[in-house]
Amino acid sequence: MPEPRATVRGELARRIIPLTLGAETLPRSVSILGDRTGQLITEPVTAVLVETSAGWVLLDTGHNPALVRDPALAERFYRGADKPLLATGGDPLEDTCHEAGVELDDIVLVAVSHLHSDHAGGLRHFARRATPVAIQGAELQHAMETPQADLELQGIFRIDFDDPSLNWQVLDGDTRIAPGVTAICTPGHTPGHQSFLVELDGAACGGYAFAFDAADLTENIDREIAPGGLIGGTPEQAISSIRRLKSEAAARGLVTVPGHDPYAWPALVDELSAEPTAPAPPAEPTAPAPPAGPTASPSLDPLIHGRPALVIVDMQQAGYLTSSGHGRYGIQQMPGFSDRIRRLVEILELCRHTNVPVVHLQEVHSRALDDFGRELDGAEGVHFIEGDAATSIVGELRPLATETQIVKRRYSGFFGTDLLDRLADLDVSTLLLAGELTDVCVHYTFVDAHQHDFHVRVIEDCCGGSTPQSHYAALDAMEYLQSRARCTAATVTAALISSDHERKGASS
Ligand SMILES: [Zn+2]
Ligand SMILES: [Zn+2]
Repeated sequence: MPEPRATVRGELARRIIPLTLGAETLPRSVSILGDRTGQLITEPVTAVLVETSAGWVLLDTGHNPALVRDPALAERFYRGADKPLLATGGDPLEDTCHEAGVELDDIVLVAVSHLHSDHAGGLRHFARRATPVAIQGAELQHAMETPQADLELQGIFRIDFDDPSLNWQVLDGDTRIAPGVTAICTPGHTPGHQSFLVELDGAACGGYAFAFDAADLTENIDREIAPGGLIGGTPEQAISSIRRLKSEAAARGLVTVPGHDPYAWPALVDELSAEPTAPAPPAEPTAPAPPAGPTASPSLDPLIHGRPALVIVDMQQAGYLTSSGHGRYGIQQMPGFSDRIRRLVEILELCRHTNVPVVHLQEVHSRALDDFGRELDGAEGVHFIEGDAATSIVGELRPLATETQIVKRRYSGFFGTDLLDRLADLDVSTLLLAGELTDVCVHYTFVDAHQHDFHVRVIEDCCGGSTPQSHYAALDAMEYLQSRARCTAATVTAALISSDHERKGASS
C-alpha cells in the first residue's frame, strides 16, 4: 500500500468531472496577446465539478443562455458579434450537471475564476439556493465599481452577478476553499482572476491545476504568452501569473489545464471519463501506456473518426402535432419534440460554423398513397403527404441551399436514395444521427450506415421514439452494433470542437 498522500497534503478531492457548456468562435488574438494571424478559433466553454468530502464544488458556470437566445437581449449584450453556442437546448449548466449525475441542489460551493460572461452566466442558479460563491475581492470590486457601459464592453455583464441574494464568500488571496481545492490568485486577464489547484485522490498524476482564463490555450502555458484583452492588467502581470500557477502545479505534481483549449480540453474529458473508479497505483514517471484488453473503457474510442457529417432524420413539422398529444398525425411520438429541436439547433449551428456537412432527410409520400408499400400495415397511419405543411422540415432546422437534402419514401435514408453516393462525395466517415423516430427511421438509417461501414453516433437527446420505452430499446440495439454509438448533444459539441481543430491543424 502506498502511503496515503492525505497524510502529507491534507484531505484530497475525490473526483473531477469536466463540463463542456458550449463554444465560442473568437479571433485567436483574444487568447494569444499580439497574435496577428487573423485566424478565428472555436474554443470550448468549460467548467469543473469536484467531488470532495464536503460535497460537490463547482468551478465556473458558463454563459447565461437567456442572453444568447432572447433576440432582444442578444442584440444588447452581443451587439452583432458571433454569439456563443450552448451545449444543450435547455440550460447548459443544469443539463450537463444532470447528465453527470449531479443536481444543482447537490452543489455545496461555487467558485468563479472571474466574472466574464462565459464564466459567470450560471451564478443566478445559486442566488435562490444561497449556495456560497467564492470570488476574489479584487474581482468583485472591479465588477461592482466599474461603470456598467465600460464593463459590458469588457465582456462582463452585471446582470449575471449583481444580485443581492448571491451568497458571496469574498477571498483575499490564495485560499483552500474545500478539501483538496485551493484558489490561487492569477490576476492579469482580469483584476481578481483566480485559478484552482485540485489535488486528487487516486489519480495517476497528483491532480490538475485549472488555469481558466489565466491561460486560454496550451500555448499560453508552454510558451508563457499572456492572453489577449487584458483588463486592468499588464502582460508582465499575466505572464507572472502563468509562471506562478505552473510552479504551484509542479510543486504538487499537478497537470496544468488551460481554460479554453480546443485540444487539451476534450483530451481531459476523455482522460477523466476513462479514469478507473478504484484508486490507481502510483504511476511510473513515463508516458502512460495505452490501456489494453477487455477492461479498456469503450469511451477511449474517439467519437469522431475522419470527417463527420450531421444527418438529421425526418425533423418535420408533423412532430409538433404528434408529440403534443393534440390529435395524431398518423404516427405516435413521445413528448419533448420542441426540446429536442432546440438542442439540435445548437448542434446544427456548430456544424455550420465548423464546416461539418449536414444532410437533411425528409420522408415524403404521394397524395395518391401509392408509395407507402407496407408502411401502413403496422401501427402507423397515413403520414407525410407531399405538399402538406406537416411534411415540411421544421423552420428552426431549415436546410441551407448548400446542404444535402434527400427525400425518401421509406424508413432508412439509404433505401431507394443516393445517400451513399452523396456521403462518398463528402468523404465522410462518421455519421452523427439525430431525429425521429429513434425506433424507426433513425434506427434503420443507423443499421444501413453500420452495414455500409460508417462509424455511426446517435445523439440521443436529439432523438425521439414512438414511446420512451421504444426510444431506449432502440438506443440499446444501436449500442449493440457499435460501442459508443450512444452520445449526447453535450459530448458531440465537445467532439466537434476538437475534431475541427484536428482537421485545421492537419491542413495547415
Ligand atoms: Zn475571461
Ligand atoms: Zn473565458
